[in-house]
Amino acid sequence: MHNIRSLRGIGDTRAKLFEQKGINTVEELLYFFPRNYEDRGFSKDIAHCRPGEELLVKAVVVSEVKETRIRKNMTLYSMTVGDDTGIMTVTWYNNRFVKKIFKKGDQYYFYGKINPNSRKKEMLTPVYERVGKEQFTGKIIPIYPLWGNLTQKFIQTVMSEALEVCGEFEEYLPKGVIKEYKLCDINYAIKNIHFPDTFKDFETARYRLVFEELFMLQLALLCKKETLKGVKREPFYNTECMDEFLALLPFEMTRSQKNVCMDILSDLKKDVPMNRLVQGDVGSGKTAVAAAAMYVAVKNGYQAAIMAPTEILAGQHYGSFCEFFKETDIKICLLTSSTKKKKELYDEIKQQKYDIIIGTHALIADSVEYANLGLVIADEQHRFGVTQRAKLMGKGNDVHTLVMTATPIPRTLALILYGDLDISVINELPPGRIPVKTYAVGEDMRKRIYLFLEKNLKEGMQCYVVCPLIEETQKSDLKNAVEIHEKMKKLFPDYNVGIIHGKMNPKEKEEIMMRFARGEIRILVSTTVIEVGVNVPNSNIMIIENAERFGLSQLHQLRGRVGRGKNQAFCIMFAHGSNEIIKKRMEIMCTSNDGFYVSEEDLKLRGPGDFFGTRQHGIPELKIANLFSDMQILKKAQSAAKKIIECNGYPGNIDTKLYEKIREMFREGIVSN
Ligand code: ADP
Ligand code: MG
Repeated sequence: MHNIRSLRGIGDTRAKLFEQKGINTVEELLYFFPRNYEDRGFSKDIAHCRPGEELLVKAVVVSEVKETRIRKNMTLYSMTVGDDTGIMTVTWYNNRFVKKIFKKGDQYYFYGKINPNSRKKEMLTPVYERVGKEQFTGKIIPIYPLWGNLTQKFIQTVMSEALEVCGEFEEYLPKGVIKEYKLCDINYAIKNIHFPDTFKDFETARYRLVFEELFMLQLALLCKKETLKGVKREPFYNTECMDEFLALLPFEMTRSQKNVCMDILSDLKKDVPMNRLVQGDVGSGKTAVAAAAMYVAVKNGYQAAIMAPTEILAGQHYGSFCEFFKETDIKICLLTSSTKKKKELYDEIKQQKYDIIIGTHALIADSVEYANLGLVIADEQHRFGVTQRAKLMGKGNDVHTLVMTATPIPRTLALILYGDLDISVINELPPGRIPVKTYAVGEDMRKRIYLFLEKNLKEGMQCYVVCPLIEETQKSDLKNAVEIHEKMKKLFPDYNVGIIHGKMNPKEKEEIMMRFARGEIRILVSTTVIEVGVNVPNSNIMIIENAERFGLSQLHQLRGRVGRGKNQAFCIMFAHGSNEIIKKRMEIMCTSNDGFYVSEEDLKLRGPGDFFGTRQHGIPELKIANLFSDMQILKKAQSAAKKIIECNGYPGNIDTKLYEKIREMFREGIVSN
């Protein structure tokens, strides 16, 4: 392993930037892949360049660089270049260095975009290299994601040096797999993913790396499943009691809620721990299903705990559970970081004075001990890390585990990605729900939207206004939650306007949320802290600012906050930018209320390495694979991994090199010790 500081140009400051991305060594750097490529392999004749095209030209400098100041802080530098077929202008903005560089008669490669708005031929801010000295033109060039103050050229240079420095990568994929799936050698793959000579070489390299990534993920998940298989536990004997619970509910469960309850019940009867994922769209009634499972656990003499990602949500669960169980003698408590007299509560939990424990991360604190934990549930599992879930499981002896998520993904994908879990789906909503009407609008509609809002407020309804994260708002074009809050206060002086954001402490958030739930606050301006779970049936309008900044699944989650009451609900998204993908996203939101469909489309529209997106789905970060377009490779990788486990047994005979690699890659704890 070589430290990245051994590369030229990387000192402490830049090393820190790379560390942000988890890159500490040269080897890790080489696993940071391009997001795109530019074909600078062939130069075009100037005569054949068309406006709007991005291309490479090989031309001779035929004029001096001319400097034109067009306004304060804006100076153009342009010169004329020519080849056998014609001449064109090349232009840079505020780049006085170019004056010193070019001399008449020198021949250069220029790569850039031909100005689409100019009648004369003009290439804008091209990359250039002297012919004969070319490094990044004359071939296919990788384009990397940029962050901090790093430039494209810097990363490209560093990568090519890294390739020289790092030496050989050791092959850790089994020989049989390489042969059967016709994978190229690891060193060939690494070189050609960064600097392919042809696009065919790139394809070959990419195929191998995508396969490798998905294969390792599969293997890790299967190993975990195998480990769990070996564990035995006492089954729950009393299983008749589920029906008692259903009778306690104020509503009849939907058919699919009942089916999921049956799946769970059959797990609980077994002598191995349950390990099940429940996927269900927002509002599909997962809480009642969780309550049913907990009821059974309690009736079998165990404690049951449910962990929610936010204090607000935990509080709301506490309310619902108290209501569900009010006719029973089941004791319920709430444990969050703002719980007072924690020590006393800990003692009572340890003495099994409580049967059901509801809370946040506070549930997994070291000082919390349970008397007899039989079932743990993680709600909105995509918000928890694997480690946190594991820690919750560790609080009991071989406990039954249920994880619930409202970001459903297509079943084929779920089967593969949650390879370590059994899966149940709630695929219908309780009767009588009116779908949320969704609109994507531009600034020109703002006045009308506010009039519409006012009308609803007059009728007694409430409204959410959601803004992108407050941390990200240094950029001036984003509507800052605080700013919007001020504006809404001015625009709607007759109504109480509140604000809630992630920078507030839990107590403050709780307070605001309570006041909104009680109807004291009529307009709630918020960042995405309201994304999960909270239920305020009287709110029927959600306005989303800068909707283009959110992922589709996230928008769908947000929208799920309204439409929980009897009135028609509306979701109005202010979206900016005319980018095709943004348009497509907005269209999907406006035409569908189905979470499965939305998340499938979401995955389609996302590229690889879209970290935020995959996290949203609770999937480990993928560096290169695209879960949608690489489905075929995913299937192959899955069968290869299955075969390895079946033929060798686990963990017994898995090749040590391979096993060590899985451990190293999934430090977060997919593989247990
Ligand atoms: P989610 O799946 O998003 O967690 P919840 O469990 O919060 O959804 O349920 C949303 C709302 O629907 C709650 O008010 C709940 O009481 C209600 N609900 C759940 N199941 C049913 C049902 N079968 N019939 C009627 N209402 C239901
Ligand atoms: Mg929920």
